[in-house]
Amino acid sequence: MTENPPKFLWNEMNRLEIERAQKAGYVVIIPVGSIEQHGPHLPVDTDIHSSLEIAKRAALKRGDVLVCPPVWFGYSPHHMGFHGTLTIRLETFLDLLKDICDSLYHHGFKKILILNGHGGNRALINLVVNDFMRTHRTKILAASYWDLAADEIRAIRKSEPGGMGHACELETSVQLYLRPNLVDTSQISKETWTPKSRFGISYGIKDLLDSGSVTIGFDFAESTSKGIMGDPTVASVDTGEKIVAAVVDRLVDLLEEYKQL
Ligand SMILES: [Zn+2]
Repeated sequence: MTENPPKFLWNEMNRLEIERAQKAGYVVIIPVGSIEQHGPHLPVDTDIHSSLEIAKRAALKRGDVLVCPPVWFGYSPHHMGFHGTLTIRLETFLDLLKDICDSLYHHGFKKILILNGHGGNRALINLVVNDFMRTHRTKILAASYWDLAADEIRAIRKSEPGGMGHACELETSVQLYLRPNLVDTSQISKETWTPKSRFGISYGIKDLLDSGSVTIGFDFAESTSKGIMGDPTVASVDTGEKIVAAVVDRLVDLLEEYKQL
């Protein structure tokens, strides 16, 4: 008889298994993302698929982590100018995430990591972490997956600064590696920008790994013609594999440090 692989997906477990995991001090990862346009070549679930997949791989490596059912929807009003985007209001996003964290806490899980796959959620997940400290005196964590291994991604990337933003070298490479059948390579094209001023405020951000010094409201349909920010033409399966491996390794290390806290 072959042994079943260890379970780590919350939704596939029964309550006794979840209780055992809680008593054993498991960390819970909540993958969050968005359903939004990703140019003409990537599926609209790119952000949540990437963060969920990275969470699963880290959980499998560790054996002391549960992966919460993912938060599919994110804060994406700036993508509504293109078809496919389903956004929720920032209050809805905050309430939803706070309610999930409260439920985990209620069942005794005190170590929670929010793993984000969508830039537009960044400010909001940070708020949830800070507010959880205020309400529960408990330290939960939040991170966007690319930030976890930013130094390694800088070394792996082929594009110049500006090549990683949205539906870019990073996201296209990761999806080419994880789900090549869902990437329409015939639609890939480069859409980068040169900031028109010293602060780059013509578009708000310069690069996913260099967010710039100011925040300004922007709309993808106004600022881009195809909904792309960056250079997906240099994306590759190899780059995607290296990025996923680097992020998963870093996440595994982060979970260890968090457990020791
Ligand atoms: Zn994305």
